[in-house]
Amino acid sequence: MIEVINPADGSIVGQASFMNNEQVAAAITRTCDAFPAWAAKTAKQRSDLLRGWYELVRADRQIFAEIMVKENGKCLSEALGEIEYGLGFIEWYAEEAKRLNGDILPSHDPDASVLVMKEPVGPTAAITPWNFPFMMITRKIATALAAGCTMIIKPAEETPLTAYKLLEYARRAGIPPGVFEMVTGDANAIGEAFTQDPRIHKISFTGSTRVGKLLAQACGATLKTMTLELGGNAPFIVFDDSPIEEAVAALVSAKLRNSGQVCISPNRIFIQDGIYERFLDQLAAAVAKIRVDQGMQQEFVVGPLINRAALDKVVSLVDDAVGKGATVRLGGKPHEKGGLFYPPTILCGLDETFAVHNTEIFGPVFAIYRFSDEEEAIRNANNSEYGLVAYAWTRDLGRAFRLSKRLAAGMVILNSGSVGSASVPFGGIKHSGYGREGGHYGIEEYVHVKYVLMAGQ
Ligand code: ADP
Repeated sequence: MIEVINPADGSIVGQASFMNNEQVAAAITRTCDAFPAWAAKTAKQRSDLLRGWYELVRADRQIFAEIMVKENGKCLSEALGEIEYGLGFIEWYAEEAKRLNGDILPSHDPDASVLVMKEPVGPTAAITPWNFPFMMITRKIATALAAGCTMIIKPAEETPLTAYKLLEYARRAGIPPGVFEMVTGDANAIGEAFTQDPRIHKISFTGSTRVGKLLAQACGATLKTMTLELGGNAPFIVFDDSPIEEAVAALVSAKLRNSGQVCISPNRIFIQDGIYERFLDQLAAAVAKIRVDQGMQQEFVVGPLINRAALDKVVSLVDDAVGKGATVRLGGKPHEKGGLFYPPTILCGLDETFAVHNTEIFGPVFAIYRFSDEEEAIRNANNSEYGLVAYAWTRDLGRAFRLSKRLAAGMVILNSGSVGSASVPFGGIKHSGYGREGGHYGIEEYVHVKYVLMAGQ
């Protein structure tokens, strides 16, 4: 068995089974065997089953939220927010299932018709991380199922309990075994089983760039397509003409969400000269009001980091910055509560030579950089191997358009800190991966296009 630990206090909150290779292989076979019947259902039948699942989970969202607080450490309000976001994918794709239309094209042959059909790619697999134990699963499985694919999921070892609960509710809603399967156990072995199986046609992975590249290499052997949502190093640029109060509020909530353990978390915060001091003062005042605590409460709190390795990483990044001359405006050391708690920290006086600049921090650290003009801001923002999201604040319309074109990221968010929703294409470029999840773009990744020429009329 795999023990599931509450990161807030180290207690054991549950177990997941450590499936052996035969059990994993049997689950993959169930996923593959279920495909023809699932693909043959009408779009309406698939839509109804997804909708039924959505309703059942929605009615019990408090149960799901409490499990998430226990295994992930995020606070209740955040867990409920994630559920709302994650349910949005089931709802959206229950609807989208019915709108997966093909085309009839003008024919180049006067005696023929030209049709374009969309067909599900086949049985698929997904591997998900622990930072969004609910939403990461719903956004993959709802898309696959809506398109007519079956899917087998390996959730993160840290957060399998939310995943089990989602599976239990899917069964209650009538989604058949095989259509949605789940395996837990050795990540390497399961990764190999998924990538090497010729019957699996696509893998959707969210996690580190390192593991994403390993999986992509392995998928090359059987030419599986992939959707890869990997690491990020998001710039958050604030120009002199921005409303400071709004930008600070957006930054604080984007940064402290899930204690900073989010791939779209603002990782490098660039503030223009003219507002630099005022912005820092307001940021420090806002952050100082936020409490650090375990999450089983209504108030928004910054929870623990997921495990010891995550804490050690944040400690070493901050120590490295301080050792190289960074100024600590707030925090800077593990929280006095001990355990896995690290307080919101503001570091200034940084440049691109610091490790925090080139590393996804994955903790509640505001890394602040100063800049003087637009050209410099864009150059600095794009100075990263990642390209998931870029945030920028300005009231200048021309500059906003320039930024939207020149920032090298899959997503550019102007005058806001809010990115995700079921209806938008989420995803990155460069080492942040490829493919999109969400909206109509998301479902297109689960179908192939079949061109049919029908002559002899
Ligand atoms: P994180 O640092 O966010 O945990 P990982 O990429 O290590 O990122 O983990 C994301 C998911 O990938 C988890 O479900 C994890 O178990 C899985 N994973 C880790 N290593 C491998 C591997 N070699 N093959 C397949 N999956 C893996």
